[in-house]
Amino acid sequence: MASGAAAEPRLLSYDDARARVLNAVRPLAPERVPLGRALGRALREPVVAPHALPPFRNSSMDGFALRAGDAAAGARLRVIETIAAGQAPARALAPGDAARIMTGAILPAGADAVAPFEECASEAGEARPARAFRPGENVREAGADLAAGAIALEPGRALSAYDLALLAALGIPEVAVGPAPRVSIVSTGDELLEPTEPLRPGAIRDSNRLQLALRVAAAGGELVRAVRVGDRPQAVADAIRAALADSDAVLTIGGVSAGDFDPVKQSLGALGDVELWRVAMKPGRPQAFGTPGGRVFYGLPGNPASVACVFEVLAAPALRKLQGHSALDLPRVHVRAAERIESRAGRTDFVRVTLEARDRVWHARPAGAQVSGHLVPQARAHALLIVPAADAALPEGADADALILRWPDAA
Ligand code: AMP
Ligand code: MG
Repeated sequence: MASGAAAEPRLLSYDDARARVLNAVRPLAPERVPLGRALGRALREPVVAPHALPPFRNSSMDGFALRAGDAAAGARLRVIETIAAGQAPARALAPGDAARIMTGAILPAGADAVAPFEECASEAGEARPARAFRPGENVREAGADLAAGAIALEPGRALSAYDLALLAALGIPEVAVGPAPRVSIVSTGDELLEPTEPLRPGAIRDSNRLQLALRVAAAGGELVRAVRVGDRPQAVADAIRAALADSDAVLTIGGVSAGDFDPVKQSLGALGDVELWRVAMKPGRPQAFGTPGGRVFYGLPGNPASVACVFEVLAAPALRKLQGHSALDLPRVHVRAAERIESRAGRTDFVRVTLEARDRVWHARPAGAQVSGHLVPQARAHALLIVPAADAALPEGADADALILRWPDAA
């Protein structure tokens, strides 16, 4: 049972670890859902416009539809009808004719411009434009927004409310999207208490399980269970096996480092197809990863900042790939180091930073000591600043990339 514990961990760079994770994970089969349930989901098919948008030529203003050639300042046009939105014009405009028209109503045949009410006097069945109008003024041509047969949305995008509104306008009531991966969390550690329990010597409260459950949901996962087991290898192995039976992904917390009682590490042999990793990154070096039985298994470290970092930069991309998202990582922005940031060559550092906009540039500053057991810098941070493996430090004023955890509150 403990045979996996003997295996030497695989040493990997962060880039190699990310590539191995993403190569091992295949998108789950798509499902069709109504638009109201598709927000944030990964679109899994190209959407082709079944008709043009707008579907017909219409007025963009309340005013008078007219023939631009007739509409010199001072011209007197005969008003032949009123066209409301949703109503078809009864007649074509002959030379010298105009029609009262409302925004969104079909332009009558013969008309090629609309004089807004604000720029057209009307009296006794006549319309008198205040100026000349060019053909096309205040007219929305059929297909100007989207041509029939054009690709409305490409697969892989996370569907926004605006995307779904576009599908509604096109009369497409359902879309193929990536399913929410079913995710189980197994938290290990004899020292852990519930948040409701009083402290006792040597014990701390389990904060990672809640953190991870909420971040799994934010990454599009559906939580099947989040259980806390102790450090007994048998109990941990049983919990992992039960979770693998009904989850697409299983995340464990703690128990993968070099301690005497690291039960996840000791369960690996029994799981099969899971490796112990030492990834040249900070925080988050000890990890375990594999795809036993085609499920994703990610053994996260135990320290809170390590859990956050490994989840955000390695496990969440795997969850997004399961859904079929083309954007797998947190949004990345360009920042400037507001102070010198220490790192070490040969290791990718993810520095918890706060961001402040100065001179239209995001200035990043460490959100506190970069200690992986600390929770406060993680809670304060707006982003994870990346110090690439090649760099031993980032001098003050240097440019860097940062992964956004949350935008700073507006001042
Ligand atoms: P481990 O890798 O299991 O030795 O855990 C490393 C550190 O993270 C230890 O100090 C643990 O107490 C702590 N830790 C592990 N799991 C959790 C958790 N769920 N919540 C808070 N801290 C944890
Ligand atoms: Mg532990």
